[in-house]
Amino acid sequence: MKQHRIARVSEAIREVAAETILFELQDPRIKNVTVTRAEVSADLQKAKVYVSVMGTQKEQDLCMHGLKHSAGYVQSKIASRLKTRFTPTVTFIRDDGVKKSIEMSRLINEALAQSRPEPTPDGTADEASEEGPGRQDVPGQRSSWLDSLFLFLRALMNMPTHTTNKQKVVTQLFAAIGKHVKPRPVEPRPVLEQFVYAMLRENATRDSADQAFQSIQDRFFDWNEVRVSSTLEIVEALDGTLSDAEARAQRIVDFLQEIFETTYSFDLEPLLEVLQKKGIKQASKQLLRFQAANDYAVSWVMQHSLGGHAVPLDPAALRVLKRMGLIEEQTDLETLHASIEHQVPKAKATQFVDLVSVLAEQHCHEDLPACSGCPLRTACPTGQEAKATVAATSKKPR
Ligand code: SF4
Repeated sequence: MKQHRIARVSEAIREVAAETILFELQDPRIKNVTVTRAEVSADLQKAKVYVSVMGTQKEQDLCMHGLKHSAGYVQSKIASRLKTRFTPTVTFIRDDGVKKSIEMSRLINEALAQSRPEPTPDGTADEASEEGPGRQDVPGQRSSWLDSLFLFLRALMNMPTHTTNKQKVVTQLFAAIGKHVKPRPVEPRPVLEQFVYAMLRENATRDSADQAFQSIQDRFFDWNEVRVSSTLEIVEALDGTLSDAEARAQRIVDFLQEIFETTYSFDLEPLLEVLQKKGIKQASKQLLRFQAANDYAVSWVMQHSLGGHAVPLDPAALRVLKRMGLIEEQTDLETLHASIEHQVPKAKATQFVDLVSVLAEQHCHEDLPACSGCPLRTACPTGQEAKATVAATSKKPR
């Protein structure tokens, strides 16, 4: 069977398994489960369904027993969806992707802390201390490790209670908005261009960012021409496609100037070599050295160039996800990433980012969310609250 067909069948199995576990299985042992992915064999005889289970070791073991016991039922649901000659035999497999996701967030955070050189008493950055041996003996650094450990434990403790409800909201998001915003892979681009694209994509929809990026490429001969152009010329090229055009244009020019001054080129591909030889931590650490780098841009490049699972979260996404109850108020970025990357599998991360930005633009406005027309209102706690308030107001005696 062709690869794309196998991928489609695997995705259908993942969806059916997730919905069945979430909405139909009554076994009390089965809780706090997220289906992360499914893999079907080429002959469609076997399917592995990977699940992330939160809770104590005993709860996880019980849950896995429950799932094993329910595999036949899940299989029958898959059979009625697939309508193929064979129904694959389902095996549930525990996935440690969440652990990796939390570790990834920790690495970003750690790299973020380490990449800004601390000023020495004479005001210059202490480059030598950044990589030197014995850095774990620096008191400030030790507290950073303790902080990370604390956040890691807190992320683990926070997730189990809400996982199932949050997963329902995510499922609803894909079902309601996904009808209109189909999955589209992000165009493969060199690392530098992904970085520039991220600056256009932050706080904007996919369509606006695509249009803005294309306009820049049409208008300028190369990245050096963009670097030496005035902010006004870049703003003109953006042609009203994006908000904050001037700030974005200035940031792009500053970034290109910094690249040019440090590498005498416009090439960030050596990062891929760093990734291969030293791992993702060092690669993201190098990216974070650029003044224009922020959490969003680094997450974007990690996701689209470095092969990591890092969902980029801009202020618009944070606003929507908080209102939807997918992330907690006043939670640090590291925990937010860990939580979202737990709820959204890597294969769906690009579409998820697209859906959330469309939702932010069309319904979940910054000043006043338009909940009454939002397709998510039945699943979103803020939408439900707004509905209850309207109902209570309309019932008041005159
Ligand atoms: S229901 Fe309201 S608050 Fe919730 S996502 Fe939709 S617009 Fe935003």
